[in-house]
Amino acid sequence: KHLPYFCRGEVVRGFGRGSKELGIPTANFPEHVVDSLPLDLTTGIYYGWGCVANEGVHKIVVSIGWNPYYKNVKKSMETHLIHPFKEDFYGEMLSVIIVGYIRPEKSFNSLDSLISAIHSDIEEAKKRLDLPEFNRLKDDNFFNTHS
Ligand code: ADP
Ligand code: MG
Repeated sequence: KHLPYFCRGEVVRGFGRGSKELGIPTANFPEHVVDSLPLDLTTGIYYGWGCVANEGVHKIVVSIGWNPYYKNVKKSMETHLIHPFKEDFYGEMLSVIIVGYIRPEKSFNSLDSLISAIHSDIEEAKKRLDLPEFNRLKDDNFFNTHS
Protein backbone atom coordinates (compact mmCIF):
# COMPACT_ATOMS: atom_id res chain seq x y z
CA LYS A 1 0.00 0.00 0.00
CA HIS A 2 3.00 2.32 0.40
CA LEU A 3 4.31 1.70 -3.11
CA PRO A 4 5.64 3.37 -5.13
CA TYR A 5 7.76 4.95 -2.39
CA PHE A 6 9.94 7.94 -3.26
CA CYS A 7 12.97 8.93 -1.24
CA ARG A 8 16.37 10.48 -1.44
CA GLY A 9 19.41 11.12 0.68
CA GLU A 10 23.15 11.36 0.76
CA VAL A 11 25.09 8.09 0.41
CA VAL A 12 26.87 7.29 3.68
CA ARG A 13 29.34 4.59 4.66
CA GLY A 14 27.80 1.29 5.64
CA PHE A 15 29.07 -1.16 8.16
CA GLY A 16 31.72 -2.82 6.07
CA ARG A 17 29.81 -6.03 5.67
CA GLY A 18 31.87 -6.58 2.56
CA SER A 19 29.08 -6.29 0.01
CA LYS A 20 31.56 -4.97 -2.51
CA GLU A 21 33.77 -8.00 -2.03
CA LEU A 22 30.79 -10.14 -3.00
CA GLY A 23 30.48 -8.10 -6.18
CA ILE A 24 27.24 -6.56 -4.94
CA PRO A 25 27.96 -3.15 -3.40
CA THR A 26 25.04 -1.63 -1.51
CA ALA A 27 24.75 2.12 -0.98
CA ASN A 28 23.50 3.07 2.48
CA PHE A 29 21.15 5.92 3.36
CA PRO A 30 21.60 7.99 6.52
CA GLU A 31 19.55 7.20 9.59
CA HIS A 32 17.01 10.00 9.10
CA VAL A 33 16.03 8.65 5.67
CA VAL A 34 15.58 5.13 7.00
CA ASP A 35 13.64 6.45 10.01
CA SER A 36 11.13 8.11 7.71
CA LEU A 37 10.17 4.83 6.02
CA PRO A 38 6.56 3.88 6.77
CA LEU A 39 6.67 1.97 10.06
CA ASP A 40 4.60 -0.88 8.69
CA LEU A 41 6.59 -1.30 5.50
CA THR A 42 7.41 -4.99 5.32
CA THR A 43 11.10 -5.80 5.60
CA GLY A 44 12.65 -7.69 2.73
CA ILE A 45 13.91 -7.25 -0.80
CA TYR A 46 12.38 -4.68 -3.14
CA TYR A 47 13.03 -3.49 -6.70
CA GLY A 48 12.79 -0.07 -8.28
CA TRP A 49 14.64 2.77 -9.96
CA GLY A 50 17.54 4.83 -8.70
CA CYS A 51 19.69 7.74 -9.72
CA VAL A 52 22.99 9.04 -8.34
CA ALA A 53 23.45 12.83 -8.37
CA ASN A 54 21.72 13.96 -11.55
CA GLU A 55 22.95 11.18 -13.76
CA GLY A 56 21.22 8.22 -15.36
CA VAL A 57 18.31 6.29 -13.90
CA HIS A 58 19.10 2.62 -13.25
CA LYS A 59 17.30 -0.45 -12.08
CA ILE A 60 17.84 -1.16 -8.37
CA VAL A 61 17.39 -3.87 -5.80
CA VAL A 62 16.80 -2.58 -2.26
CA SER A 63 17.13 -4.46 0.98
CA ILE A 64 15.17 -3.14 3.95
CA GLY A 65 15.88 -4.98 7.14
CA TRP A 66 16.75 -4.92 10.78
CA ASN A 67 20.23 -3.71 11.33
CA PRO A 68 22.39 -6.17 13.28
CA TYR A 69 24.84 -3.34 13.98
CA TYR A 70 22.21 -1.72 16.20
CA LYS A 71 21.09 -5.00 17.79
CA ASN A 72 18.21 -5.17 15.31
CA VAL A 73 16.36 -2.21 16.84
CA LYS A 74 17.04 0.06 13.89
CA LYS A 75 16.24 -0.51 10.27
CA SER A 76 18.71 -0.28 7.46
CA MET A 77 18.05 0.36 3.81
CA GLU A 78 20.65 -0.63 1.25
CA THR A 79 20.46 -0.02 -2.48
CA HIS A 80 22.30 -1.95 -5.15
CA LEU A 81 22.19 -0.19 -8.51
CA ILE A 82 22.29 -2.55 -11.47
CA HIS A 83 24.90 -0.57 -13.30
CA PRO A 84 28.70 -0.64 -13.32
CA PHE A 85 30.04 2.54 -11.70
CA LYS A 86 33.66 3.47 -12.28
CA GLU A 87 33.99 5.04 -8.85
CA ASP A 88 32.40 5.06 -5.44
CA PHE A 89 29.87 7.79 -4.84
CA TYR A 90 29.87 8.38 -1.10
CA GLY A 91 28.45 11.81 -0.31
CA GLU A 92 26.41 12.00 -3.50
CA MET A 93 22.63 12.36 -3.53
CA LEU A 94 20.86 9.08 -4.24
CA SER A 95 17.23 9.22 -5.35
CA VAL A 96 15.16 6.05 -5.42
CA ILE A 97 11.65 4.96 -6.24
CA ILE A 98 10.74 1.66 -4.63
CA VAL A 99 8.30 0.05 -7.00
CA GLY A 100 7.61 -3.50 -5.85
CA TYR A 101 8.38 -6.28 -3.42
CA ILE A 102 10.29 -9.45 -4.22
CA ARG A 103 10.62 -11.51 -1.02
CA PRO A 104 11.09 -11.40 2.74
CA GLU A 105 14.54 -11.41 4.31
CA LYS A 106 15.93 -14.84 4.87
CA SER A 107 19.02 -16.22 6.50
CA PHE A 108 21.19 -18.40 4.35
CA ASN A 109 23.37 -21.27 5.46
CA SER A 110 26.18 -20.43 3.08
CA LEU A 111 27.70 -17.44 1.38
CA ASP A 112 27.15 -19.13 -1.98
CA SER A 113 23.43 -19.51 -1.41
CA LEU A 114 23.23 -15.86 -0.29
CA ILE A 115 25.01 -14.71 -3.42
CA SER A 116 22.88 -16.81 -5.74
CA ALA A 117 19.71 -15.55 -4.04
CA ILE A 118 20.86 -11.97 -4.67
CA HIS A 119 21.60 -12.77 -8.29
CA SER A 120 18.12 -14.17 -8.77
CA ASP A 121 16.66 -11.08 -7.05
CA ILE A 122 18.55 -8.97 -9.58
CA GLU A 123 17.17 -11.00 -12.50
CA GLU A 124 13.66 -10.76 -11.07
CA ALA A 125 14.01 -6.98 -10.63
CA LYS A 126 15.24 -6.51 -14.19
CA LYS A 127 12.34 -8.51 -15.59
CA ARG A 128 9.59 -6.82 -13.58
CA LEU A 129 10.91 -3.33 -14.25
CA ASP A 130 10.52 -3.92 -17.99
CA LEU A 131 6.76 -4.27 -17.53
CA PRO A 132 5.14 -1.07 -18.86
CA GLU A 133 3.44 -0.12 -15.56
CA PHE A 134 6.81 -0.21 -13.75
CA ASN A 135 9.00 0.95 -16.63
CA ARG A 136 7.32 4.31 -16.91
CA LEU A 137 8.38 5.28 -13.38
CA LYS A 138 11.96 5.59 -14.60
CA ASP A 139 10.86 8.75 -16.45
CA ASP A 140 9.19 10.20 -13.37
CA ASN A 141 9.85 13.88 -12.74
CA PHE A 142 11.20 12.93 -9.32
CA PHE A 143 14.49 12.20 -11.07
CA ASN A 144 14.66 15.62 -12.72
CA THR A 145 13.99 17.75 -9.69
CA HIS A 146 16.68 18.03 -7.10
CA SER A 147 16.07 19.24 -3.60
P1 ADP B 1 29.43 0.10 2.60
O1 ADP B 1 29.53 -0.88 3.73
O2 ADP B 1 30.16 1.41 2.87
O3 ADP B 1 28.01 0.33 2.18
P2 ADP B 1 29.74 -1.56 0.23
O4 ADP B 1 30.76 -2.65 0.08
O5 ADP B 1 28.32 -2.01 0.42
O6 ADP B 1 30.22 -0.60 1.39
O7 ADP B 1 29.85 -0.63 -1.06
C1 ADP B 1 28.89 0.42 -1.22
C2 ADP B 1 29.46 1.61 -1.95
O8 ADP B 1 29.96 1.21 -3.24
C3 ADP B 1 28.41 2.66 -2.25
O9 ADP B 1 28.26 3.57 -1.17
C4 ADP B 1 28.94 3.34 -3.51
O10 ADP B 1 29.77 4.44 -3.17
C5 ADP B 1 29.77 2.24 -4.18
N1 ADP B 1 29.15 1.62 -5.37
C6 ADP B 1 29.80 1.40 -6.55
N2 ADP B 1 29.00 0.81 -7.44
C7 ADP B 1 27.80 0.62 -6.84
C8 ADP B 1 26.55 0.03 -7.28
N3 ADP B 1 26.40 -0.47 -8.50
N4 ADP B 1 25.51 0.02 -6.40
C9 ADP B 1 25.67 0.51 -5.14
N5 ADP B 1 26.82 1.08 -4.67
C10 ADP B 1 27.88 1.13 -5.51
MG1 MG C 1 26.71 -1.38 1.79
